[in-house]
This record gives sequence, structure tokens and C-alpha cells, in this order.
Amino acid sequence: MNKQGLNLNTLGEFDLIERFFKRAANNAYPHILLGIGDDCALISCSAKDQVGDLAVSTDMLIEGRHFLPGAGPFSLGHKCLAVNLSDLAAMGATPVAFTLAIAMPEVNTKWLDEFSAGLLALADEHHCPLIGGDTTAGPLTISITIFGRVDATKSLKRSNAKLGDDIWISNTLGDARLVLGNIRQEWALDPTEIALVAPRMHAPVPRVTLGQKLLGVANAAIDISDGLLGDLSHILKMSEVGAEIYIDQIPCSSTLGNQSLELKRLCTLMGGDDYELCFTASTTEREKIQSISKTLGLTLTKVGKIIPVPTEVSCNLITLLDEDGQILPTELSKQYLQSFDHFKTPN
Ligand code: ADP
Ligand code: MG
Repeated sequence: MNKQGLNLNTLGEFDLIERFFKRAANNAYPHILLGIGDDCALISCSAKDQVGDLAVSTDMLIEGRHFLPGAGPFSLGHKCLAVNLSDLAAMGATPVAFTLAIAMPEVNTKWLDEFSAGLLALADEHHCPLIGGDTTAGPLTISITIFGRVDATKSLKRSNAKLGDDIWISNTLGDARLVLGNIRQEWALDPTEIALVAPRMHAPVPRVTLGQKLLGVANAAIDISDGLLGDLSHILKMSEVGAEIYIDQIPCSSTLGNQSLELKRLCTLMGGDDYELCFTASTTEREKIQSISKTLGLTLTKVGKIIPVPTEVSCNLITLLDEDGQILPTELSKQYLQSFDHFKTPN
């Protein structure tokens, strides 16, 4: 154990929570009636400016599975809240508060300082206070439950894509996968390239404002955590529709654009961890979507169309088209269409 490493008995659980996770009470969040410290936190459901239905989501991050052993604690703190905020974004919900359950092998105060700084900086940015949680010893595992507010009748459900809808993507895809491949030595980026794309993996930006602006505009949405094709197929299955994707129109950074066509396609189609939004909207909403893009200074790109489910049983729900509008050869398309599954043995 190093100097900063103390076991849970030395720095008591309550001292730890007090020191790293509790913020001095402030009046910035009138809807939080009671925060950290009691048996439950209390959130007001009847404050005038807080009307709507409750949106709830949980995400768990395990060392070695969802993040690399020894990951920088500041960016880890940022990322584990970002992925939860991203789920709220994908429903069009406004953040209200979150809880944090954390298991750690030892109490390392330097690690906790940085982790809580990254976590709480993003929480402040989104006006989403930490109101409770649980702390225990164990292999490093971080689980956040986030609460948001949205009118359930307008929320962006996966099951509501309509035939003829355009399929849209925010910003660019594939950079997080490009960085991961470099770390795993699947390919090598030069230092300037790494500097340009690394933040996409370590500090994803949840598209919360975009999600809110899409309420009443988009029909269905999902955040891209496991790869465009895998995540889009959730929308398709739940909406009982198919999709055409123009694979060479998927927006990517210039760094990824400078790589081979094969690598670019792999990263944009199958790369996880981007946390951009994929949404579907009627063609009548195109102007509105362009104006949202302008207001937010965020590129929104049409990458496909919702079509009927293909009639042949063996066909995938997604048809991939190349630059010339040609359907991709079956073998190639099969290769892209396998989505990421946490219970599959990693290759
Ligand atoms: P209980 O015994 O009711 O589970 P605990 O003793 O575990 O409560 O926690 C005491 C208080 O500290 C509770 O209000 C709980 O929500 C909060 N808490 C525990 N761990 C964390 C954490 N990692 N982050 C924020 N709050 C926490
Ligand atoms: Mg507890």
C-alpha cells in the first residue's frame, strides 16, 4: 500500500463521502429537498418549474471491461457520469440528480481527489447534483443511477421510428474506436493524431441539449455507446422497421478520414464509446434540424433512411450502401453487421 492508500477502515466510509463526494449545501437546486447523509435523498416532484415525468437510467463501469486498468481518475470521473447523461440525452430528458455506487480496492486519496473532481465538474456543468450512493471495498466498479425529467408522451423512444424517416447522426463517429485501436496496438497513430482524437475517448460530450431540442422533432433516438450498427438495430427491432445506411456519408473527423477506407468504415460503423446521438425524423423536419444544428454549432448529418423490414428472412434489418448507392457485398456487410455484445468472449 502506498502513502495515499488507506484501507476503508482507516478513513471511514462517512469521512470519505464527506471529503470527496459531499458538496456544501447550496440553494442552486431547490428541487433537491435532501441530499447526501440520510437514509434516502428527497427530490421534489411538484416544484413548478420541474413538471414532467421521471426518467431513470443506470450504467455500470468495471475496470478491465469498460475502462483500462490504471485509467486516469479525472477522465474516469467525467466519463462515468457522461455515459449516464448521454442516456438522458437520448430520451430528450433534462438532468435532475444522480447517485453513485462505488467499490474500490483501497482508499487512495489522490485517486479520489481527481476522480471526484472530474465527476463533479461535469455534474456542475449539467446542473445535476450527486445526492447519494453507496461505498464499499471491492474490485474497482462504478455504478451511477441518473434521474431526469421529461414529458413521457414526447420522449424520444427507441420504438417510434417511422417508415420514410431520415436517420441522423450528431457530430462525427469513430474517433473513440480509433484511439482504442491505437492503445491495443491494432494500428499506430502518430502523436499529433493521438492528441487530436484522444479526448473523444477520454472525455465524451453527452448531447443533452441536442436531445432536449429534438423533443417534438425526432421520432426515435439512441446514444451510440456500442457502435452505430449495433445501436441502430435496437431502434429498428423495437420499431419493427429496417434501414438503409449510406456508409460513406457517415461523418468522421479529418484524422479518421485520413486513414484507409477499411479502417474508417470499421470505426464509424462498429466503433463504440462515441456517445453521439443517432435519431430518426420525418423528412418534413429537415429545416428544423438544420436550424438546431446551427444554434448548437453541432454538425447533424443524414446518413440513411427508415425502410420496411426486408421480406427475405435471411436479410439483416440494415442494408449498407456504398458511395455509388450499390449494396455492399454480402460477406463485407456481414462483417460490419455483427454488433458488440458484452457477453461474447472478446476476440
Ligand atoms: P445506508 O446505510 O442507508 O446505505 P450509507 O451509510 O451507505 O447509508 O451512506 C450514508 C449516506 O451517504 C447516504 O445518504 C448515502 O446515500 C450517501 N453515500 C454513500 N456512498 C456515497 C457515494 N459514493 N457518493 C455519494 N453519496 C454516498
Ligand atoms: Mg449503504
